[in-house]
Amino acid sequence: MLKKLKFLGSLYIYKLRGLLGLKPYDIMSAINDYYRDDFLKLEKKDVAVILPHCLIHSRCPAKFSKADGVLCTRCNLCGCGEINSAAAERGYQFYISPSVGFTKRLVRRKNLCGVIGVACDYEIERGIHSERISGNGVSIDQRKIKTQGIRLQAYDCIHNDVDWEKIKALL
Ligand code: SF4
Repeated sequence: MLKKLKFLGSLYIYKLRGLLGLKPYDIMSAINDYYRDDFLKLEKKDVAVILPHCLIHSRCPAKFSKADGVLCTRCNLCGCGEINSAAAERGYQFYISPSVGFTKRLVRRKNLCGVIGVACDYEIERGIHSERISGNGVSIDQRKIKTQGIRLQAYDCIHNDVDWEKIKALL
């Protein structure tokens, strides 16, 4: 009960700060802590690691699939390849998504129950204001998704970076 109150309090304060135009803070750790136990109970085949396209290298040789996003060949020009391999070794699905809308469609099409995701402060704030987030998960259509998330280092749609070690730790 205390955990739930702490979580809902963090969400409320985050939204209020947004409405007041104050700089967002790291809400991810509160969300991760709250969903972690349920997330760990999920079957890995029902969980996807979904990275944003802004992390791929400017000379990325991957093709794009309308169904699965950027088809990383693990060339290792960027860190996505290593995460792709680590996700596959552990039994997770892996995708690189070009947009939030695409990510939501992936959740539906792949019947996901959990997501390890990476997003910038702008998208996190937008998601928190527009999606229904409850104790059961983040609502995407009829599904309640248990998430574990990490913030990107910047709000930059072309050349971004992330703490890759944090993603590996979540895997
Ligand atoms: S590791 Fe994957 S995503 Fe990164 S540049 Fe190579 S093919 Fe593209």
